[in-house]
Amino acid sequence: MSPELLKLIQLQDIDVRVFELTDRLDAIPAERRQIEDQFRQQAAEYLGLEESLASAREHRVRIDEDLANYEQTHEKFKADLMRVQNTKEYATVIREIDATKKAISALETEALQLMERIEATEKEITDRAPEFDERRAEVDALMAGFDKEVKVVDSELEELRGRRKVIAAEVSGNMLRVYDRIAQTRKGRAMSEARGEIGGKGRCSACNMALRPQVFSDIRRGDDLIVCDNCNRILFYRPEQDAPAEASAS
Ligand SMILES: [Zn+2]
Repeated sequence: MSPELLKLIQLQDIDVRVFELTDRLDAIPAERRQIEDQFRQQAAEYLGLEESLASAREHRVRIDEDLANYEQTHEKFKADLMRVQNTKEYATVIREIDATKKAISALETEALQLMERIEATEKEITDRAPEFDERRAEVDALMAGFDKEVKVVDSELEELRGRRKVIAAEVSGNMLRVYDRIAQTRKGRAMSEARGEIGGKGRCSACNMALRPQVFSDIRRGDDLIVCDNCNRILFYRPEQDAPAEASAS
């Protein structure tokens, strides 16, 4: 085989791997998103509990403020009661005292219910926290795994591209252009081995197309760049892998 064809086979090995790795890199963001979305859905209920706890606590603070105000007003009316001048004033103040008492009692009931709700929610959060934390740790580990994978892939790609540059420099410009054009449309698989059959015929191993004896013989000589009529890949022949057929053909 010509040294240039050998170089093209080496390039193909590199390019196939480069395509695999870049495909992998392209797929990673969608995989990350899927895991994150799934986690967000699973976590929504738990995070909803935390939100409802926060809002219940805020509500509780407001009720305590209202209670303090009503109690102050209530005390003021009770003090007013000592200073009433007539029955009309007395009746008015008594009404106010009753009204604030009712309001205070309603607020106290609400505060109690709220306290129960807060305690129940706190308990549910405590119960569910380990599972949630575990799931979050799992997701974090998966994300760290992706980060690590990207780094490994990037460094392998860098190394492959470096090697490719060296090998490509040893191939003639014309051959490289033909190779590159085919490789780009076939995810790097630009080369196909021609395999011999009994009777001196051969076949393209990529598309299984039969090769005319003259074409196969030219491929075996390995001087020219010969492309499969059917699949357009560059054909090469490796005698050592085809010894029995080669022996019977000659
Ligand atoms: Zn073919």
